[in-house]
Amino acid sequence: MRFLIVEDDKDLNRQIKQALEDSRYVVDAAFDGEEGHFLGSTESYDAIVLDLGLPLIDGISVLESWRRENIKIPVLILTARDRWNDKVTGFDAGADDYLSKPFHMGELLARLRALIRRAAGHASSEISCGPILLDTKTSRIYVNDVQIKMTSLEFRLLSYMLHQQGRVISRTELVEHLYDQDFDRDSNTIEVFVGRIRKKLGVNILQTIRGLGYQLIEEGA
Ligand code: CA
Repeated sequence: MRFLIVEDDKDLNRQIKQALEDSRYVVDAAFDGEEGHFLGSTESYDAIVLDLGLPLIDGISVLESWRRENIKIPVLILTARDRWNDKVTGFDAGADDYLSKPFHMGELLARLRALIRRAAGHASSEISCGPILLDTKTSRIYVNDVQIKMTSLEFRLLSYMLHQQGRVISRTELVEHLYDQDFDRDSNTIEVFVGRIRKKLGVNILQTIRGLGYQLIEEGA
C-alpha cells in the first residue's frame, strides 16, 4: 500500500509520513499543490492525504482537477478547525473523508485504513483469503490463526494482494504500489519476494498467472 501526503507544514508532513511508515506503508510527500497534483496524476497511490491550504495551488483545486482527470484514488482532506464550509466544499470537490486540525495520528491512520479497505470493497477490518487473515488494525498476517513474521516489503505485497484479491495483479502494478517514487524499481525482484512469501505462508494460495502476473486463489476454489 502506497500513500501520498500533500501538506506544506513540514513538521506535520514528516509526522504523518513517519506514522504511516511505522504501519508498514510506503509514502511519498509533497509540500505544495503543484507537486502534489503532479504526483497524484502520474503515480499510483492507494490513498492521498490532502491539506486544503497549500502554496501554488490550493487543495480544493488540486482535488477538483484530479477528479476531472478521472483519478479515483480515495482522498482524505485536512481542514482548519471550525471551517465547516471547507468540509462541504471538499466533499463536493470529490473528497472521501476529512479530518480537522489538530487531530490524533491514530484517528488519521484508522480513517485511511477504512478508506483503502472500502475502496477495495471490504467492509471489515480483517481481510481473509482461505486460511490467510490480515488484521489491518495491527498489520499482522495469520495463517490458520498462527502469526507469520514478514519483512515490510513482503507485508506490503501480501497486504496489497489481499485487498485486491480475485484480480490478477501485474508485476508493474505491484511495483507501483510497493515502492516510493525515489526507489530504483526492478520488477524482476517481485518474483523473489513472491517466492519468499509462498514459503512463509506454506499454503498454495499465491498463484503465478503466466504472462499476466499474480492472483490470490483459495485452494479448491
Ligand atoms: Ca497548510
